Amino acid sequence: MSKDEKLKNFIRNFVDEDLENKRYSFVMTRFPPEPNGYLHIGHAKSVCLNFGMARDYGGRCNLRFDDTNPVKEDVEYVESIMSDVRWLGFDWEDRLYYASDYFDKLYECAERLIRTGHAYVCDLSPEEVREYRGTLTEPGRDSPYRDRTPEESLDLFRRMRAGEFGEGEKFLRAKIDMASPNVNMRDPALYRIKKAAHHRTGDKWLIYPMYDYAHCVSDAIEGVTHSICTLEFEDHRPLYDWALEKLDWPEPRPRQIEFARLNLEYALMSKRKLLQLVKENYVSGWDDPRLPTLAAMRRRGLTPASIRLFCERIGVAKKDSWIEMEWLDKAIRDDLNPAVKRVMAVVDPLKVVIENWEEGHEATYQAPYFPDDPPSMGYRDLPMTREIYIERDDFRLDPPPDFFRLAPGREARLRWGGFIRCREAVTDASGEVTGLRATFSPEPSPAEGGARRPAIIHWVSAAKSIPATVRLYDRLFLTPRPTGDLDGELNPQSLIVRDTARLEASLAGAKPGERFQFERLGYFLLEAAGPPPVFNRIVTLKDGWARRSKGKKPA
Ligand code: ATP
Ligand code: MG
Repeated sequence: MSKDEKLKNFIRNFVDEDLENKRYSFVMTRFPPEPNGYLHIGHAKSVCLNFGMARDYGGRCNLRFDDTNPVKEDVEYVESIMSDVRWLGFDWEDRLYYASDYFDKLYECAERLIRTGHAYVCDLSPEEVREYRGTLTEPGRDSPYRDRTPEESLDLFRRMRAGEFGEGEKFLRAKIDMASPNVNMRDPALYRIKKAAHHRTGDKWLIYPMYDYAHCVSDAIEGVTHSICTLEFEDHRPLYDWALEKLDWPEPRPRQIEFARLNLEYALMSKRKLLQLVKENYVSGWDDPRLPTLAAMRRRGLTPASIRLFCERIGVAKKDSWIEMEWLDKAIRDDLNPAVKRVMAVVDPLKVVIENWEEGHEATYQAPYFPDDPPSMGYRDLPMTREIYIERDDFRLDPPPDFFRLAPGREARLRWGGFIRCREAVTDASGEVTGLRATFSPEPSPAEGGARRPAIIHWVSAAKSIPATVRLYDRLFLTPRPTGDLDGELNPQSLIVRDTARLEASLAGAKPGERFQFERLGYFLLEAAGPPPVFNRIVTLKDGWARRSKGKKPA
């Protein structure tokens, strides 16, 4: 399958059809976030889809803030959304729009719907509206205000705008069909009274358009051809089309196409839940690296390319599903694997004294930064001294049968170096192992060499390593499909801070923003130069998570 074929999906089929039939002569899409939270990986799917389609068809994609609800919106969100879209690698050029820019036009269109008999002002209270609406199996009932003359409705609508009525006292609704099998068509609300200042229009408006009405008209104003949205809007499409038709909007009108939203296992994507996690301090902020927000992923160390790759691979479908986190992890690894140096770091150090080396004895090994293709990234020196650190995890006093690394009397190979045999474990009063005494040999000892190849473990020189803090991030939730019960479902081990970690000496010159693979541990980003330098774990190595969830240690 060629790349082009792979990128084919049902949305592109629609677009191809529309271009062929000359319904449109070009492609115009938009990404329409509501500025009421930070963008997350689900939004990234929509960004990649909308901007990606525009790019591939030589069209354009607008960034439009759907800021029709003054109460929940904020400029902080507007700014974060813009920087996230740019970071993902997309550009709206000079086409930055706000639904609030269209408030005058939306108001004018609403008056037009009233004058032409397609909308009326209704005085039912919210409870009454619910009663009149009917159910999925029963039709609704006409509002007693449905037959108001256009003149009367127009007068009331203008007085709503002037602030004569309180919130909930009156609203403007479409006059469609209270018996429609589609509840969205039972005279839905178009405008409501809301006495709140808006982050862009200030206190100019006391009435605000409803999302469904504002969205289709905004799309039409911008000349959008394909209005791509998530599946829950499928039942709203008749309303989308209805409004533009009743407004006599000139053809070609935008076409709404729905696709399945992204649900990612071990993550929660509801903005309400994300806000709760932030506001109630379950996490340190919108960019806490455990969140599925783009700000968090950027901070953790993901590249925009890995997110685009992930979105491309999961594709678009017409049916809701959950995507395994492993897909995202794999995209991250596939992106970083060919690009970053392999180095050694010990996050939970256990000191080993090499008994058969004298004080001050030193050796230097040369190790390639990229073992699969050494010339591509070159080599660095690894100093070895009489005292080294290994990972505490690589030693067991009483090794279980399936543990093949270091234990008393056993031999292991130091990555890029020689062999150490553990002679003795030093313990403190409580029995905790505080260090090892070992002998070194450049070759495996014959006794063990033949029977079983010693395990290879990573290490650093004690004297010539750099103290560092390493933050080990993990899934925020324990359950793959969290319901949102934060106290029951959060993973208490989602962040483990190792502040006695040690890095090999070559990392002394690393710059914030640089990424590395710490051999056997995962991919890491240097977030702050320090001292001590602070590294974030971006992702574990393959199967790291699966092994840990079975109670085993990462390979
Ligand atoms: P809400 O409307 O509840 O505030 P939302 O997640 O729909 O939340 P929007 O700001 O309206 O947030 O979303 C902007 C765009 O991103 C919309 O077109 C929406 O369809 C799309 N989008 C949001 N969440 C996802 C998701 N999980 N997968 C794919 N697209 C999404
Ligand atoms: Mg939405």
